Amino acid sequence: MARPHLLGFPRIGARRELKFAQEAFWRGETSEAALRETGSTLRRRHWQLQANAGLPTVAAGDFAWYDQMLGLTTLLGALPSRFGFDPAALTLAQYFELARGNAAQPAMEMTKWFDTNYHYLVPELDADSTFDGGANWYFDEIDEALAQGLTPRPVLIGPVTYLWLSKSHVPGFNRLSLLPKVTAAFQRILSQLRARGIEWVQIDEPALCLDLPPAWLDAFDHAYPPLAETGVRLLLATYFDTAAPHAARAAALPVHGFHIDLVRAPQQLADWLAVLPEAAVLSAGVIDGRNIWRADLRRLLQTLQPLHARLGDRLWLAPSCSLLHVPVSLDAETRLDPELRSWLAFATEKLDELRTLATALNEGEAAVAARLAASDEAQAARRSSRRVVNQQVQKRLAALDPAMAGRNSPFDIRIARQREALQLPALPTTTIGSFPQTPAIRQTRAAYKRGDIGALEYLERIRGEIALAVRKQEELGLDVLVHGEAERNDMVEYFGEQLCGYAFTENGWVQSYGSRCVKPPVIYGDVYRPEPMTVDTARYAQSLTTRPMKGMLTGPVTMLQWSFVRDDQPRADTTRQLALAIRDEVVDLEAAGIRVIQIDEPALREGLPLRRADWDAYLGWAVQAFRLSASGVRDETQIHTHMCYAEFNDILPAIAAMDADVITIETSRSAMELLEGFGEFDYPNEIGPGVYDIHSPRVPGVDAMTRLLERACQVIPPERLWVNPDCGLKTRGWPETEAALANMVSATRQLRARLAHEAPAQWKRATAVPGRTATTHAHGAGCGVDCAGQAVA
Ligand code: GLN
Ligand code: ZN
Repeated sequence: MARPHLLGFPRIGARRELKFAQEAFWRGETSEAALRETGSTLRRRHWQLQANAGLPTVAAGDFAWYDQMLGLTTLLGALPSRFGFDPAALTLAQYFELARGNAAQPAMEMTKWFDTNYHYLVPELDADSTFDGGANWYFDEIDEALAQGLTPRPVLIGPVTYLWLSKSHVPGFNRLSLLPKVTAAFQRILSQLRARGIEWVQIDEPALCLDLPPAWLDAFDHAYPPLAETGVRLLLATYFDTAAPHAARAAALPVHGFHIDLVRAPQQLADWLAVLPEAAVLSAGVIDGRNIWRADLRRLLQTLQPLHARLGDRLWLAPSCSLLHVPVSLDAETRLDPELRSWLAFATEKLDELRTLATALNEGEAAVAARLAASDEAQAARRSSRRVVNQQVQKRLAALDPAMAGRNSPFDIRIARQREALQLPALPTTTIGSFPQTPAIRQTRAAYKRGDIGALEYLERIRGEIALAVRKQEELGLDVLVHGEAERNDMVEYFGEQLCGYAFTENGWVQSYGSRCVKPPVIYGDVYRPEPMTVDTARYAQSLTTRPMKGMLTGPVTMLQWSFVRDDQPRADTTRQLALAIRDEVVDLEAAGIRVIQIDEPALREGLPLRRADWDAYLGWAVQAFRLSASGVRDETQIHTHMCYAEFNDILPAIAAMDADVITIETSRSAMELLEGFGEFDYPNEIGPGVYDIHSPRVPGVDAMTRLLERACQVIPPERLWVNPDCGLKTRGWPETEAALANMVSATRQLRARLAHEAPAQWKRATAVPGRTATTHAHGAGCGVDCAGQAVA
């Protein structure tokens, strides 16, 4: 019998019940008992779904009050000592302080979970870290499942992945030196599970899909034998990419089965079969755990049937990874187009697919003939639907001329023409796009959406906000203005809603971090722009001022990255379609008299594949797509891009290859260390290093910004420098925004005066400090965490 199982289920709840319960608890409106009750109800409901789908075991221990890595940290008792909490007596309130900070301590650092948009809390470890056990909540959850008469199959993040993802603030500290202690802790946990009669434990080691250094690979050989001694059977789970390079090593470990991701990396199956030990289980991750498309069950059976014939009971069936990364259920979608809806499967529907596959294998296809026929029908309908394929888009793509991805002239010619046309002072000042989204703005958008106010009233109110933003910028003395983005809630949604090929769900929430969720739109068909999206707004904004008004667009890679994307064509092709749509907008903005156009790409870096060997291919098409979107304009039109993350240095050649005339980047939190990377690399175009951190309400002083700018001038020739905050100002209030920008303008003016008097040689490039690495985002290495761009709710 092929055995269906899950690696994990979304815990937030179909109606985001956990989010609302957490937030009510944080506000002090409900008790810990009430919060615990919500968690327990959700767990029971999700287990019941699994049991109803015929799964002989239910995934348990995949629940988390905030995050699964933090959950493991509390189970191990490895709390950061700076909080002073007793691991064994940890309260839920203290647990949340670890995640969110308290009056005395900043929160633990948060960063992206592999290449997903989920963020985990980074364990803080040093030589004194202890792993003597902490809160018992994990075991309580296992007991809860047992008490319900279910067979829990506990989930644990494995010791090597745990250590690999942790950080130490002690320079030079080798986290691997903690392996024996961590292994001993895992041994105790597994023994406790064994004592409860648990047979199988899933141990997640997605780190095996990364480029691990040899010592870290050896760590598997050291960590697993002691775990095997506990007598539990271990299913070693890998996902998000291929683990085939390490299949032989893994096969030699004393574990009893392997889960592999056959959606991301179907080619690894043969490698694993070649080394799979005689009695070991192979869990085939065939249902996409990262995307929302209904599976082609017939095609999957073609792969699975021979596998089943060969492995029999040793074949398990599963989604490729935990279902944490997809929304809970299609039931909550009442307004979705019925045809599109019939092509989708969220977590609950994926459970059903799993059941159908298992039944087809175990009892024959006849037992699920109707379900298979329905699956075939959905596949055929989707393939031939006119909603998906648009001949005009296809023709345009086929006729793409590589010259379209290049500007007419090289940068030095363009920039001379732009300087002539724009007549900006040295060190021009600007902002990244959004201005404070006041309650009034949010109310206006909501009222319009509900139909409480009409289109004209809405237009008037938004224009009022634009006029206010323009007036304030003129008063502040900024050089290149923005309209402020009052009409946008989310930088992808705003454009997606105006593009064909995009759909929006009502409740397709996916956890981003803690109680925060995002609702990624769905790209289901060929993308095109039926009509201009921002031209009227930009033209209106420009009409209010003689200074250049920046047009503001979201780039093709970010549009892709923050959406659920088609699985029926390469991501590169979808991105090219997005690029053409944005290119049309860029050209129309230019025709409407907009002389500076910014195309934001905050998500470019997060699209990087897990393995370095795949980086070039990705960066190749991503950069081409950006260039395609940007290159339809005359030399005089200045293209800006904006990126907000701290780790640039390893992708600088790709960033330079984007050939934007100006790039604005986040640098303020790493005190310009990043910029040194740009200096060393000899970044050829203009740069606006963020001179202050918009993530904090603190108003930076003139001196602090002057110092940063002086440092920037030593690394980048001043004639190529811009001055700006490090991201959009949407999450800030007006008073602090005005104060900070006023200081930014004064700092710039002082420096301009000095530049005019001092010999250029004094600003000569300083030698960069070698071996310096950039610090990460205090709150995640990438964008997406309370960053201005993506709406989290
Ligand atoms: N233009 C956007 C803004 O200012 C950029 C947001 C982002 O970089 N994530 O809001
Ligand atoms: Zn940004």
